Amino acid sequence: MCPSKSRCAKLVVSAFVLAAVVDGIAGPVLAANPAPATALVVHGGAGTIIKGQMTPELEEQYRAKLSAALLAGQAILQAGGSSLDSVVAVLKILEDSPLFNAGRGAVFTADGRNEMDAAIMDGATGKAGAVAFVTQVKNPITAARAVMDHTDHVMLAGAGADSFAVAQGLELAEPEYFFTDRRWDQLQKAREEENAAKTGNLSQDTPRPYMGTVGALALDQQGRLAAATSTGGMTNKRLGRIGDTPIIGAGTWADSKCAVSATGHGEYFIRLAVASDICARARYLDISVENAAETVIHEVLSAGGGTGGVITLDDHGQISMPFNTEGMYRGFVHADGSPTILIYK
Ligand code: ASP
Repeated sequence: MCPSKSRCAKLVVSAFVLAAVVDGIAGPVLAANPAPATALVVHGGAGTIIKGQMTPELEEQYRAKLSAALLAGQAILQAGGSSLDSVVAVLKILEDSPLFNAGRGAVFTADGRNEMDAAIMDGATGKAGAVAFVTQVKNPITAARAVMDHTDHVMLAGAGADSFAVAQGLELAEPEYFFTDRRWDQLQKAREEENAAKTGNLSQDTPRPYMGTVGALALDQQGRLAAATSTGGMTNKRLGRIGDTPIIGAGTWADSKCAVSATGHGEYFIRLAVASDICARARYLDISVENAAETVIHEVLSAGGGTGGVITLDDHGQISMPFNTEGMYRGFVHADGSPTILIYK
């Protein structure tokens, strides 16, 4: 009868509220019902983590930034704010940090520029917004949100996306803002590896761990899911290359029951439509989102040679975070609990 557990719970809640009002006329008022539990999940990429190269100080910086982002998103959810506002707040904090491959810390393209992609999807309405290879927007996720909220389109790219962001009055940044020594060094290394591969000194299949997208999923007090993902793409990518992040159904997806944000080698995630495949499998096969995500990452993606992972969230607040790399920066927080942060397997 009820479309979902949470909807049933709401009907029960409404009945209690009604009873309380009626009862209040003649007798004692029942205790107010608590708002449904909220949930928030975050990732900071799966492709940059090599345990041997991590120092305790750096690990602590990652943990602290992911916690701060979760707490900011949690505060919005606890105050009754929307899942959309929550995921944008989380991503802005991660985009502003040089630690992650998004916004400030975006990786460099083959020609030494920063071209960023981002997407957002509203599970309650099915609306979505995305930008691809933007170069001037300080927080690409705000441009994706503006595309969703203020245009009839889903995705804007390149110069059109940048000029749209200007017209929307979004905060801009000069190219120098996106320059970090660490990412520049990674580009030089990637170029060396590419040359070595061309001269036969290095296998083309050698994994190049220069990724690190950020993503967030939220479930708000109204039971609405939202997904958001933002990235600089992959180090040494070709001019104009677009990854999975801004492609709805590949790197980002949310519907009324399931939300997914991906990180990893984008071409594989596009070809396999990873994010929407997880939610479709859960729905059509009547299995949990967690089960579907495990299958898609550990069987489908791995079988095809793709590397990376996803975070998922369902309409009951159940999360999963499968990946097939050495680690994935990730964390979650439920209701008014404390954030949990994880990095390795
Ligand atoms: N998926 C991103 C891309 O291919 C990269 C990443 O997740 O780090 O653009």
